[in-house]
Amino acid sequence: MDFSFTEEQRMLRDGVTRVMNELATPEYIRECDREQRFPEELYKAWVDLGLLRLPFPEEYGGMGGNVIDLAVMAEAISYKSFDFFTALGASLFCGLNLLAKGTTEQKAQLLPKLLAGEVKFSVSISEPEAGSDVGAMRSTAVRDGTDWLINGQKLWATSAGAPDNIIHMYVKTDPKAHYRKGMSLFLVDNRSEGLELRKLDMLGRRCTGTYEIHCNDVRVAADRLVGGENNGWQVVMAGLQVERVTVTAGYIGGMQAILDDALQYAKDRKQFGRPIGTNQAIAHMLADMQADLEVSRTMMWRAAWTLASGADALKEISIAKLFASEAYVRMANNAMQILGAYGYCMEFDMQRHFRDARSVTIGAGTSQMQRNLIAARMGLKVDNN
Ligand SMILES: Cc1cc2nc3c(=O)[nH]c(=O)nc-3n(C[C@H](O)[C@H](O)[C@H](O)COP(=O)(O)OP(=O)(O)OC[C@H]3O[C@@H](n4cnc5c(N)ncnc54)[C@H](O)[C@@H]3O)c2cc1C
Repeated sequence: MDFSFTEEQRMLRDGVTRVMNELATPEYIRECDREQRFPEELYKAWVDLGLLRLPFPEEYGGMGGNVIDLAVMAEAISYKSFDFFTALGASLFCGLNLLAKGTTEQKAQLLPKLLAGEVKFSVSISEPEAGSDVGAMRSTAVRDGTDWLINGQKLWATSAGAPDNIIHMYVKTDPKAHYRKGMSLFLVDNRSEGLELRKLDMLGRRCTGTYEIHCNDVRVAADRLVGGENNGWQVVMAGLQVERVTVTAGYIGGMQAILDDALQYAKDRKQFGRPIGTNQAIAHMLADMQADLEVSRTMMWRAAWTLASGADALKEISIAKLFASEAYVRMANNAMQILGAYGYCMEFDMQRHFRDARSVTIGAGTSQMQRNLIAARMGLKVDNN
């Protein structure tokens, strides 16, 4: 295994870091978080930098990058804000699913627009009754002439209300069938008639936003069905591994920011006439954080490398996602302890890291579902996989 970066990957990391340092200033991040505002200026800068083009083939204007490039980029963006990264991630992951399963016409029509920043993408699977249990989904699409009519309620949809967004919405098209054979993907413009969006008041990730969606006879043309009728599960699975490993790289960017902040504070903050980091209790917390970060990063690169080499990496990715997400939460909690009241104050950044981190053992598959997946790969029979 060779985890060293190519010259291009080093340039990518440095280019992303430069743009993030210029635009995602502490004031900008705090303002977007406080006002729960989508980072539209930053998204435009990512488009200009070519980040939307990164993993797509040249025939659509892309750069033909792989999952390692995506991980490099995710870590560099999330160092400033994991919340911001989810805005870009939503577009990229949905775009890759479209690349894998869309028709020639759908790809030719939509991918160049995505890469040029003219449209964004987001995903909507979850519902009030259907979280880990996707099969409990109730929303439906039924044929109406050559169109489809979508009805139902979706929940927890990241980025659904972003400007110029097309929601990749999974609904049942054969409610009697098992969800793996009765669910379909439709591309729904977020300004469609009959669609009601409500931005939810969540603890963290407040810029990209998490939405509730009501669909009342939302009319969708036949050419907005992706992957064929009842093939939605195949579309989800097409991009699952790339998405999970890239998101894990995002966790690692957030963890590095937390550690840097807490370490600096432990060196600067004096109590009883000496830096608090000279207390073994604090030094050991920081040493544990460093170990958590290094283990998470190594497992993420192992998973990314396995996937990039063309192998099935679901077990490695689930292990990396599970460990890194729980370590991220643990680190945010301990770093807040090191910063004392400053960590708990809304005028400093640690509380935002803490709030954003807390979502990651829930989103993109809960910790319990990762354990179910790992156990199943160990030959154990676990329900609901
Ligand atoms: C910030 C954020 C953003 C999100 N963005 C999106 C998005 O863009 N699109 C989207 O579709 N969804 C999104 N989600 C939803 C996310 O996918 C779900 O929250 C997740 O799948 C869990 O579903 P749930 O919250 O309904 O919890 P439930 O599935 O109801 O689970 C509740 C608890 O029970 C546990 N549990 C459930 N079943 C089992 C089992 N079989 N074995 C062991 N434990 C189990 C879970 O691990 C959890 O601890 C987002 C969630 C968050 C927090």
